[in-house]
Amino acid sequence: MSEPSVFTRILQGDIPSEIIAETDRVFAIRDIAPRAPVHLLVIPKTEQYRDVVDLAAGDPSLLAEMTDLAARLADEHADGDFRLIFNRGAGAGQTVFHVHAHVLAGGLDEGSLGD
Ligand code: 5GP
Repeated sequence: MSEPSVFTRILQGDIPSEIIAETDRVFAIRDIAPRAPVHLLVIPKTEQYRDVVDLAAGDPSLLAEMTDLAARLADEHADGDFRLIFNRGAGAGQTVFHVHAHVLAGGLDEGSLGD
């Protein structure tokens, strides 16, 4: 058995982080190192999928639940517009191999793809 991911440990309460929203299968927290006025992470409760490609192939309805929760959070925490980022692979900046979406919102630079 490999070690639980940092996000599973947060979900289980082993690492402190407020769970700001959840459904049966998905939860959301604030990123510990925000790169936008609103920077949230939307995460499946299962760590079975390591990245978005894996998730889309294995359970597209779970991916749709993530985008739904991202939209709801962008409504609640900003004006409803948001940027959704999935890093896939270490070369793209992925550091936690438990799939998660970055939800960036609130005062983003128009036309920019990221940082
Ligand atoms: P990645 O680089 O894998 O796409 O994104 C992982 C994200 O998780 C990073 O933006 C990082 O700041 C965030 N993160 C890592 N550890 C923790 C933690 O313990 N708590 C919270 N809230 N965010 C974390």
